[in-house]
Amino acid sequence: MFNLNDIIRPNVLKMKAYSSARDEFKGSASVFLDANENSLGSLAGDKYNRYPDPHQRKLKARIAEIKSVQPEQIFLGNGSDEAIDLLFRMVCRPGQDSMLHLPPTYGMYEVSANLNEVALQAVQLTEDFQIPVEEVLINLKPTTKIIFICSPNNPTGNLIEPESISELLRAFKGLVVVDEAYIDFADARSWTSRLQEFPNLVVLQTFSKAWGMAGLRLGLAFASPEIIAVLDKIKPPYNINEATQELALQALEREEALKDMIEEIVQERELLLEALPDMPSVEHVYPSDANFILVKVTDPNGMYKYLLDKGIVVRNRSSLPGCEGCLRISVGTLEENQQLLQAIAEYN
Ligand code: PMP
Repeated sequence: MFNLNDIIRPNVLKMKAYSSARDEFKGSASVFLDANENSLGSLAGDKYNRYPDPHQRKLKARIAEIKSVQPEQIFLGNGSDEAIDLLFRMVCRPGQDSMLHLPPTYGMYEVSANLNEVALQAVQLTEDFQIPVEEVLINLKPTTKIIFICSPNNPTGNLIEPESISELLRAFKGLVVVDEAYIDFADARSWTSRLQEFPNLVVLQTFSKAWGMAGLRLGLAFASPEIIAVLDKIKPPYNINEATQELALQALEREEALKDMIEEIVQERELLLEALPDMPSVEHVYPSDANFILVKVTDPNGMYKYLLDKGIVVRNRSSLPGCEGCLRISVGTLEENQQLLQAIAEYN
């Protein structure tokens, strides 16, 4: 049985949530002399002289409606990268505990683990980039506190079989984090719909991809209210700035425009998936449920430099075990994709 208090770091368990004078005060006031702000105003524009809402109440309420969860099941981070880091700090004792991830996958799990002195356990994905469940189960130790699963996976682009994830959720007594940064481009249900069923499930999403707000830094973690309360306790109080909160609220009113944008990106992805296999320098094109494509080419380093010379930047993943020979290419606009295809076609 999963018991949250069994896995939270002892010193985190003892901590109390940050509370400001504005949280404690109930009622109306017009003179705020509690936070050492500049009451004269801000050179950057209206309102920015005041600290943002540390609880992001309005934003969470709106996200809760859209995602069909409770506001208490939402944590907001300065990008989902911040949520990844806080998850380590929440359950992993530095120098003692470990996490398990499934390469080739998103690099930040490893970076953040190293930064927090959390030992790394790596179980390679299978040839078709799925989870070898038995092997993961054999590798779990009493000190393993988190399993990171990325679905759709970066850089391979595929969804992970739901059955494998639910098997790990049932068998593991630590946190299972399902990173859904690219879920909006996939034809799949989010794991947020199964939070009630699994008390050890954490789902990560982000405004950086489909919503097109990478520059604003806003990531989400969905989990039980108990897990979210701990994340809120250990986050920096004002981690989501005022401009981001305002702009995200505005963006959330434009769901139709979001759908159109996703549709266009998926359409462009399908065109690339169709065109790339015909190129002489392309050995294999992996299927994609995301807004990027993993492409195996005959000469990855040569092709990478050649594209750079043409002013086109892609990601060279050829040195990653499991991705030998591969470039990861984001889906761009129609014009960008045509430029890319023409350049690859002319490569020799
Ligand atoms: N998870 C995955 C799988 C990603 O690819 C990325 C960004 N490349 C992130 C999380 C981080 O996103 P954010 O911008 O929200 O920090």
